[in-house]
Amino acid sequence: MTESSRAVRVRFCPSPTGNLHVGNVRTALFNWAFARHHGGTFVFRVEDTDAARDSEESYQGLLDALRWLGLDWDEGPEVGGDLGPYRQSERMPLYTEVAEKLVAAGYAYYAYDTPEELEQRREAARAEGRSSGYDGLHRDLTDEQRAAYEAEGRKPVVRFRMPDEAIVFTDLVRGEVTFEPEHVSDYVIMRANGQPLYTLTNPVDDATMGITHVLRGEDLLSSTPRQIPLHRALVELGIGEGVVPEYGHLPFVMGPGNRKLSKRDPGGGLADYRDRGFLPEGLLNYLALLGWSIGGDREIFSLQEMAEAFDIGRVNPNPAQFDPKKCEAVNAHHIRDLGVEELAARLVPYLVGAGLLGAEPSEDDLALLAAATPLVSERITVLSEAVDMLAFLFVSEDAFTVDPDDGAKTLTEDGLAVVRSARDALAALDSFDTASIEAALRAALVDGMGLKPRNAFGPVRVAVSGRRISPPLFESIELLGKDRTLGRLERALTA
Ligand code: GLU
Repeated sequence: MTESSRAVRVRFCPSPTGNLHVGNVRTALFNWAFARHHGGTFVFRVEDTDAARDSEESYQGLLDALRWLGLDWDEGPEVGGDLGPYRQSERMPLYTEVAEKLVAAGYAYYAYDTPEELEQRREAARAEGRSSGYDGLHRDLTDEQRAAYEAEGRKPVVRFRMPDEAIVFTDLVRGEVTFEPEHVSDYVIMRANGQPLYTLTNPVDDATMGITHVLRGEDLLSSTPRQIPLHRALVELGIGEGVVPEYGHLPFVMGPGNRKLSKRDPGGGLADYRDRGFLPEGLLNYLALLGWSIGGDREIFSLQEMAEAFDIGRVNPNPAQFDPKKCEAVNAHHIRDLGVEELAARLVPYLVGAGLLGAEPSEDDLALLAAATPLVSERITVLSEAVDMLAFLFVSEDAFTVDPDDGAKTLTEDGLAVVRSARDALAALDSFDTASIEAALRAALVDGMGLKPRNAFGPVRVAVSGRRISPPLFESIELLGKDRTLGRLERALTA
């Protein structure tokens, strides 16, 4: 089979260490899009071999995050597949077996150097201006030498024997990449206590899961010259599916100050986006722009459109700048595209979370929300912003309060005169719809009192919504209804 006719199999393989980094989310997205574009398989695997750092909670968090994003996987946890298990913690015997086979065939060897010995030699190499990687001292120990070290009670690590030649490969994003042998020394694949390292588990899993393309962050570029010869050894030994994957390294995502965006930066971890109410489709659309473009000046597209158009060859190798404002603007676009009914449904959890709706909202509340949603859809960039805007509608009359600052500024003596006349005008209305409300208030306040609209409506807005900034006033009053509106105006007058 040629590379191009082989069915595409890609993977996303994070470690379960808490809040997923947005850079990782972008990696997941590009793998997913590549798989979908080629009608291939998207494998989800969890690299949970670091018992000290990994937790069950983070593992569940990862599954939950991927589900929330809508990046569905074809093989992996909970979905299954023929080449599982898909958690490294359940594959430990495989790594031991492979390490032993690699040693037996001479691709790897036991090295007995103590950390102190290694450090001494490294220092010396540095002092002489030589490369400070492993010097290969234990590459070819005789059986007697090994036995002597064993007799001393030393426990060996397993090192992979790097070929003494340059490693050249064609990166799917950056073209030909060459690593000279002095920059890639024999590396440890298994600790002295038998614990396999990422350097082993990751390529072994890629090989045994038949991964054809490895798309991952640029921070892992230096692992690739180590992994390619290991893959070749596995193919030689008949371990795995006989594929040496192609590699593509996605550009760094830069945060504020032109530093690599870290999980700890505001905006670095996925949880913030969920909490603030980014839509998964909005966030993913923005992340797609970090290194890729769908063509022309087009910036807004769906996940499906991305999958159809995705071309790894068009990923730009230069670092991508993360722009939070742009991310919000893209999200706002998707919010507007949702349509009222869907947007209302997505707002529910945020209103429930803020205590404005009960866990099982009533029909009346849902109807009110559906009616109010058009008032906020153009004004929010993230869903959580709707909470403050709509609070005045969902809060009970007992709990309703006016923002003290806004009240002090607008509900002055003059302001209260306006409120009084608004109350009288609205009390006289028979039909309480937006047009009648607007006509009545204009007649009473603008024409009747000779006020500029801002001075006329400001105090009314604060009295009924509690704040100087609210959704459009007349629509808001209609939704609030006559009784509640008059009650709030009255309350402002008697406060
Ligand atoms: N578990 C590794 C990480 O999260 C995956 C590395 C890879 O894609 O090869 O960085």
